[in-house]
Amino acid sequence: MDLTQFPRRNYLQGPTPIEAAPAFSKALGGKVNVFIKRDDLLPGCSGGNKTRKLDFCIADALEKGADTIITCGAVQSNHCRLTLSWAVKEGLDCHFILEERVKGSYKPDASGNNFLFNLLGVASTKVVPGGSDMLGEMETLAEELKAAGKKPYIIPGGASNAIGALGYVGCAQEIVQQLFETGLHIDHMVVPSGSAGTHAGIVVGMAGTSANIPVSGVNVSRPKDVQEGIVFNLAQETAALAGMRGELSADEVTCFDQYVGPGYSLPTDSMKEAVTLLAQTESILLDPVYSGKAMAGLIDLVRKDHFPAGSNVLFLHTGGSPALYAYLDTFK
Ligand SMILES: *Cc1c(COP(=O)(O)O)cnc(C)c1O
Repeated sequence: MDLTQFPRRNYLQGPTPIEAAPAFSKALGGKVNVFIKRDDLLPGCSGGNKTRKLDFCIADALEKGADTIITCGAVQSNHCRLTLSWAVKEGLDCHFILEERVKGSYKPDASGNNFLFNLLGVASTKVVPGGSDMLGEMETLAEELKAAGKKPYIIPGGASNAIGALGYVGCAQEIVQQLFETGLHIDHMVVPSGSAGTHAGIVVGMAGTSANIPVSGVNVSRPKDVQEGIVFNLAQETAALAGMRGELSADEVTCFDQYVGPGYSLPTDSMKEAVTLLAQTESILLDPVYSGKAMAGLIDLVRKDHFPAGSNVLFLHTGGSPALYAYLDTFK
């Protein structure tokens, strides 16, 4: 798949590192060797996976003549922080619709990403109840801004449409190239699975390079079958857009839903253990909502001998550490 056919802003500045995590692997009993793809180190304010997707989405917005970006997310959305970050760099206005998925969770003075929204200068924020029609809300705002003479462009939640998912097709291609250059063989990959663009893009990129590296998604909300359907649909759309030859099969999309706990963004003991263990063995910060729960999944799968002994397991670190500062009580 040739991704140069799509406009892009070149936000990446080269590949992110793949690091060995020997002390962390040892703390898990030395059964497998964990490696970490450091997408938490991507450029954009405080890093994280949305930069790869926004590289394509914002290029599309600029091609269409936009001067204003509208997007949506949860009250501590990393996606909103990074969309705003790149909008600032591009000189675009940026508006948010924030979904209060957990009742009472929006606090105007909260730390973490919420603090950064204000520091980076969000143009407006509207908070709506959980379950609201987010696309409808964004379209209404777009009409108001058009009437005021603006040229708005809507980026969906998580930038998880086919255009955004191209960023993770590119990430899979990057990983395959890095493995070739270093001679490292990876047996299995574990990725967080949220709005699904990351998981879908990686599946398409791995299939399109015939890398034969199985990918497991760890859900942060939603039951297994629902999430697998969402990821598979987006993967098919993305494969069609990217011009992949051949068909994806549904069994290339696997999700684990045992690590969600009571719900999206709500802390679990296994998330706390994962965040603390990786900090104290490798000095790498996970986040409480996505990468912490995904790593909790990896830890449990290692303990249950899901991966054959001696496997090399690659964890995709999607970032999100600013949200830790909105969860201080959880870690007390
Ligand atoms: C958005 C996000 C994810 C999930 O990626 P999706 O493409 O939405 O599935 C994982 N980790 C972090 C830190 C995120 O912000």
